[in-house]
Amino acid sequence: MTTTTISKKKTRRPRRILFILLPILLILVLGFSILFFLSHQNLLFQFRNDLAATFHQQSLPQTVSVSTYTIQLDDLLSDPNCTKNQALMLINDTYPLSDSFQPEISSYKDTDVQMNSCIQDAYAAMSATVREQFDVPLYVREAYRTAKEQEEKTEENSAVAAEVGASEHQAGLALDLYVPQFGGWAFTKSAAGRFVDTNCRDYGFIVRYPSYGEKQTGIPYEPWHLRYVGLPHSQIIMDEYLTLEEYIDLLKPGSFYQYGSYLISHQNGRVIDAPSGWKHVTVSEDNLGGYLFTWEL
Ligand SMILES: [Zn+2]
Repeated sequence: MTTTTISKKKTRRPRRILFILLPILLILVLGFSILFFLSHQNLLFQFRNDLAATFHQQSLPQTVSVSTYTIQLDDLLSDPNCTKNQALMLINDTYPLSDSFQPEISSYKDTDVQMNSCIQDAYAAMSATVREQFDVPLYVREAYRTAKEQEEKTEENSAVAAEVGASEHQAGLALDLYVPQFGGWAFTKSAAGRFVDTNCRDYGFIVRYPSYGEKQTGIPYEPWHLRYVGLPHSQIIMDEYLTLEEYIDLLKPGSFYQYGSYLISHQNGRVIDAPSGWKHVTVSEDNLGGYLFTWEL
C-alpha cells in the first residue's frame, strides 16, 4: 500500500508544476511580445503593409475610349492651361538620367534645401499637417544631389548608394525625411513617420521603395525616402500597392485611363492625342523617350 501511494505522488508533482509554469510562461511570452512590438512599431507597421499588399485585390485604372483631337506637343506645352514638370520620370539602374539632363531645381522657401520646383507646395502642405497633428517638425535630411555629390556618395558606400544617374535625388524629386529622434529605419517608429508613409498619397508622394516592392525596384525597403509623382498617380500607386516601375509599365502608350475626374495617357512623338474638353493638363517626361499626360476634365 505504502509503495503505491509514493509512486502516485511522484508522477503527479511534475504535472502540477507544469500546470503552474505553463501559464506563467505564456504570460511572459505574451508580455515580451507586446513590449517588443510597442517599442518596434515600425516592424508592426511594415508587417501590416506587407500583409495588406499580399491580400489586396488590385483595381487598376481602366482604359476608356474618349473623343480626341491631335495637337502638336509644342503647341500644347505653350498653352496657359498646361503645366510641364518632371514629376513622373522613371529613374533607376535600367533608366538612368542622361548626362544632358537639367533638373528644375530651386531653394525651398528661404532655406538652403534644394528640391525640384514641382514638389515644394506638396512638401509644404504635408509638413504643415504633420506639425499641426503631431506638433513636430518634418525635416529633410537630403533632397537634391548633384551628379558629383552622388558620385561621392557611391564611392563612400557602393553597396547602398545608387550609381550616378540612377538616383532620384539627382532630379530633386526625392526627399529623405525624418522627425526629431526618428530618422532612417526608425522613421516609422514615430507616429508622425507612420502618418507620413500612409498619407503621403494625398500630397502627391509615394514611398518609393516599399517593403512589398523590393523585387520590382531591386532596392531594399526605405521608409524615409519619399518620391513626388503628383496626384492622382500617388493615390493609384499607393492604394494598389504598386511600384513606380509597375505603374509606368501599366500605362500603355496611346491609351487613355480614367481615375475620378482625371484622364491619364502615355504618349510618344511630337503629335499628341488630346481629349476633347480638357481644362488643365500636366505633362511630364517619362525618361523613356515619351511623356505622361494628366488631363483634368
Ligand atoms: Zn533617398
